[in-house]
Amino acid sequence: MPFATVDPRTGQTLSTHAPHSQEHVETRLMRAEETFRALRDTSFAERARWMKRAGELLEEEAEAHGRLMTREMGKPLAAARAEAQKCAATCRYYAEHAERFLADEAVDLTPDTGFVRYQPLGPVLAIMPWNFPFWQVVRFAAPALMAGNVGLLKHAPSVPGCALALEELFLRAGFPPGAFQALFVEVEGVRRLIEDSRIKAVTLTGSEGAGRDVGARAGGQLKKVVLELGGSDPFVVLPSADLDAAVDAAVKARLINNGQSCIAAKRFIAPEPLYAEFERRFVERMRRVVVGDPYAPGTELGPLALAHIRDGLHEQVTRSVAAGARLLLGGQKPEGPGFWYPATVLAQPPPGSPAHREELFGPVAVLFRAKDTEDALRIANDTPYGLGATVWTRDEAERERFIDGLDAGTVCVNGMVASDPRLPFGGVKHSGHGRELARHGLLEFLNIKTVRVT
Ligand code: NDP
Repeated sequence: MPFATVDPRTGQTLSTHAPHSQEHVETRLMRAEETFRALRDTSFAERARWMKRAGELLEEEAEAHGRLMTREMGKPLAAARAEAQKCAATCRYYAEHAERFLADEAVDLTPDTGFVRYQPLGPVLAIMPWNFPFWQVVRFAAPALMAGNVGLLKHAPSVPGCALALEELFLRAGFPPGAFQALFVEVEGVRRLIEDSRIKAVTLTGSEGAGRDVGARAGGQLKKVVLELGGSDPFVVLPSADLDAAVDAAVKARLINNGQSCIAAKRFIAPEPLYAEFERRFVERMRRVVVGDPYAPGTELGPLALAHIRDGLHEQVTRSVAAGARLLLGGQKPEGPGFWYPATVLAQPPPGSPAHREELFGPVAVLFRAKDTEDALRIANDTPYGLGATVWTRDEAERERFIDGLDAGTVCVNGMVASDPRLPFGGVKHSGHGRELARHGLLEFLNIKTVRVT
């Protein structure tokens, strides 16, 4: 059964969900199309009322939603609760700002009248992953619904409970049935959906491979697509940095979500002569990480979400060590049930080894020794990905050099990369294209209509 909740602590299947039949998918598509015709004519005020209510429900029920996320993918409960609260804040943000963001924009064409009007496109297919099972969905759904689009969610098969909870959430908040529906379909079914003329656009958060496939298929249908794919984010520490704060943030940034985040820092770079001290402190801090039951308060690292994620990660570590990377901590796959993996540190992976080029989706940090500041920037950019990047420095010239020079969708100085509804989010290079969040995310699935009246 592809749609199943499996306890990541034990590997035990807790529940399953049957796939939707083709007839059922057809019913839902028809409902989405009908709902769109009605939703586009509702007022911003009405949609904002429903969206605010969705935010209230997320806030009031953060504990229950958090428990559901932890049950299905193993993140520490405190982080899961915080995810529900961040979703609530994002619903409020779009409820408050969408009308202003999408107001007609006058353009001076005197003596003619000109303006730009923003109109929704229709049903948008959202293909989503399991790692932030509420957040990834809400950051698409909140702007899409406020703009008057309707959403169809193809969630990852390992989080069926989250998919259903989100469908119910928007319904309970007051949106009409059909505004946001979950579809339990496999990849073949997704392909049919992308080809269906009723689907007007597609958004995917997931792996590079999925991005290439979905992007090509949507392109073949001339449909707009937003791709938010993987990352191998650099975290650069320069000599003028506050080293204690940088090491603390480095460990947090690597282990966020049990290491399974596209914007987790994955490659840590320090120039000589700082490198040795950074390595010593970083390994020491990683050694002290509290591993344990994700429901227990204080747990910093729980199990990975899926067997194939844990096994794939271990293979990347093993191949990197065999190729000559230094193993400084961890690296052993625990015996016994569940998808556990220890906090692991590798250093100086040789070019071509997995730890040098690939995304490591789990608690494995990779350290790089740079010759100097410019070399640190070169190493930071030496990746196929370009999602987020961090630099720690108190030197103004260095700060400017890195803000300009880092090939990434987001640059953070003296902090860690985190998404925020007020800021656009997305990548360059193989991390995908298009933007989510802020006004930029709202504009992705709209007809930006030019009007000229003579
Ligand atoms: P996938 O990219 O395979 O899955 C993400 C979503 O995309 C799921 O809903 C999946 O459904 C769907 N999907 C996958 N391939 C296709 C396709 N060809 N057509 C349509 N839908 C598709 O991620 P995995 O869960 O297998 O994780 C693998 C790797 O992906 C990770 O190790 C990590 O590197 C990266 N990843 C990145 C994420 C991010 O936040 N950017 C999130 C998750 C993973 P189904 O499972 O049914 O195929």
